[in-house]
Amino acid sequence: MTREEVNVQKITGYVFPKSLKEARDVLRKLGPKGMPLAGGTALHFLPDKPLGTVVDITRLGLSYIRQEGGFFAIGAATPLSDIQRYRGPRWAMHEICRRISTHQIRNVSTIGGNICRVFPWADLPVVLLAMNARMMVYNGGKKDEEVPADDFFASQPARRFAGGDLLTAVKIPVLKAGHGFGSVKANLTAAAFSLVTVAALLELKDERIRAVRAAAGSAIPFPRRLPSVEAALLGKEAVPEVFRAAAAKAGDDVKWCRQEGMSAGYIHDLAEVSLVDAFERAAEFARGRKD
Ligand SMILES: Cc1cc2nc3c(=O)[nH]c(=O)nc-3n(C[C@H](O)[C@H](O)[C@H](O)COP(=O)(O)OP(=O)(O)OC[C@H]3O[C@@H](n4cnc5c(N)ncnc54)[C@H](O)[C@@H]3O)c2cc1C
Repeated sequence: MTREEVNVQKITGYVFPKSLKEARDVLRKLGPKGMPLAGGTALHFLPDKPLGTVVDITRLGLSYIRQEGGFFAIGAATPLSDIQRYRGPRWAMHEICRRISTHQIRNVSTIGGNICRVFPWADLPVVLLAMNARMMVYNGGKKDEEVPADDFFASQPARRFAGGDLLTAVKIPVLKAGHGFGSVKANLTAAAFSLVTVAALLELKDERIRAVRAAAGSAIPFPRRLPSVEAALLGKEAVPEVFRAAAAKAGDDVKWCRQEGMSAGYIHDLAEVSLVDAFERAAEFARGRKD
């Protein structure tokens, strides 16, 4: 999909701002009649009515991936295909990106667009919740506001941006030795929406789980952490029986919904199996055996 092929019927005006400040000023002036535009792929899913003026943020130097201290900083307008191709020390983001839709969509769809308006099938919010990412928000101040993933995804992030603020970057902690990450997206065909997406971050010390973050999305109304699952892992040995017992707790945290003709019970079972798989991948990663 190219910039010219997005659903232009919905767009009544198009602005290329020269700076973040200009972008925010224009958005504030337009109010509900304006919206930031990154890859434009979400227009496909928005109601079929005029959107007003779009403010294109793809020429503001927001497409990059670099290591900054203990973090990887990913610019908000970085396409998913760049994240998929990037390799850095103990980098884990490529795994989920290569599972999102098709090459064509990944070439234009950006990390910011995926997380600033969360659709039920969005995969990145699940991963960023588990990774304890920080979202950098330009609100007109000298320094961007740093919003932890737990706060950012506490409700629909689009509300946060309704007043003209903009996401500038996502910061992901570089995984230290002993930390491991695993994500699983279960879908029917390679480019299909997820039936269930889960992700886990484990810190192992002498084969015991010292810290854990687990999250799920797609088969539930909104992506979220799984506190009962995390509690069932904390302090335990990183072995399959423990992973299975913890995954069985997921039903205490969320009510799985039926998906694509499959019953809620089936999705529940699929989520449990996917969680065990994610824990095993995270433990392997933490032990230094990454695929
Ligand atoms: C056929 C198809 C299949 C897909 N399948 C999947 C899938 O399986 N899993 C998945 O995770 N995704 C999937 N996607 C992608 C997803 O649904 C969104 O379309 C995409 O992530 C949006 O990214 P974008 O860069 O195109 O954002 P845009 O469409 O440009 O914007 C999306 C929203 O975010 C806002 N926005 C964008 N950038 C910023 C910013 N920096 N600051 C503030 N607000 C901003 C916009 O105003 C808009 O409301 C699919 C898309 C398509 C078209």
